[in-house]
Amino acid sequence: MKRRDFIKTAGITSLATGATIAAPVVHAKTKIKWKMVTTWPKNFPGLGTGANNLARLITEMSGGRLNVKVYGSKELVPAFEVFDAVSRGTAQMGHGASYYWKGKSEAAQFFSAVPFGMNAQEMNAWLYHGEGLKLWTETYKPFGIIPAAAGNTGVQMAGWFNREINSIKDLQGLKMRIPGLGGEVLKRAGGTPLSIPGGEIFTSLKTGVIDATEWVGPYNDLAFGLHKAAKYYYYPGWHEPGTTLEALINEKAFNELPEDLQSIVTNACKIANQDMLAEYTARNQLALDTLVNKHKVDLRKLPDEVLNKLKILSEEVVSEIAAKDQLSGKVFKSFKKFSQQVKNWHDVSERVYLNVR
Ligand code: CA
Repeated sequence: MKRRDFIKTAGITSLATGATIAAPVVHAKTKIKWKMVTTWPKNFPGLGTGANNLARLITEMSGGRLNVKVYGSKELVPAFEVFDAVSRGTAQMGHGASYYWKGKSEAAQFFSAVPFGMNAQEMNAWLYHGEGLKLWTETYKPFGIIPAAAGNTGVQMAGWFNREINSIKDLQGLKMRIPGLGGEVLKRAGGTPLSIPGGEIFTSLKTGVIDATEWVGPYNDLAFGLHKAAKYYYYPGWHEPGTTLEALINEKAFNELPEDLQSIVTNACKIANQDMLAEYTARNQLALDTLVNKHKVDLRKLPDEVLNKLKILSEEVVSEIAAKDQLSGKVFKSFKKFSQQVKNWHDVSERVYLNVR
């Protein structure tokens, strides 16, 4: 009996000692809470839900060890203050598009959309298997932010107009919501570009603050009801041929994570990046059918003459941005070289296939 008691007691002692040693297990289960601020209206189809998807992936993949809570624009900070909020650590993550931050760095614009530049498939190739992500990381480094691709819309639409666009002259005097490099091109064509957050577009167009707008594509544009504010819906989105959405990650917060959680954050971004493109590809035509058949939207292709002139102006604008500072020049050089390489490949693969199928 005594021996049994001894063994029993020893076991308890051992368990008790073990509890102290087991402290790291408890530590590994410590819950880290992150905030993700976004440039999108809360739960907005495609973009806002893309941010939700990313937060959910990180939370689920980490078994709740890293819990990410999403805030729509204006919930914590306004849309265009997302970059600063992540930079100063008010939020550990952000979700937006890099062309919104050209005031921080001109080079940032190359990582979202370049007029007549690379499409979604090509952007991902440059980012993941070219120099793209490395250069993007270098661009955000001075702000204490780590970037990641975290969504793509595919080719967008040229936008909503209340006047016909038959020649480049029809863009003169046009007040249009169009961000980034596309906006610079419109300015060169005699128009006035404005950068307005998504949530304010409909009212601006309806009340005549702007004459025209681009937003994303049928799936998103239908959700905003833009067909109730403009008559003509033009394509293609020459200015945004495959816009990369981004995750912004506070560098200090990221570096404080254990390696497995860092890997989860990085790879969740990759999954979210791919999934958003799949969602847009799946839903855009259904929404376009609704716009054309139910709402009788006048769907039109921009004349080749207009597209050719916009292309010439785009080349001017992009070259000038590249000459503004050393980093922009370096990013442009890499972008241009990679674009040419994938264009040559796609000239004998994707382009030919799409034309023959
Ligand atoms: Ca757009």
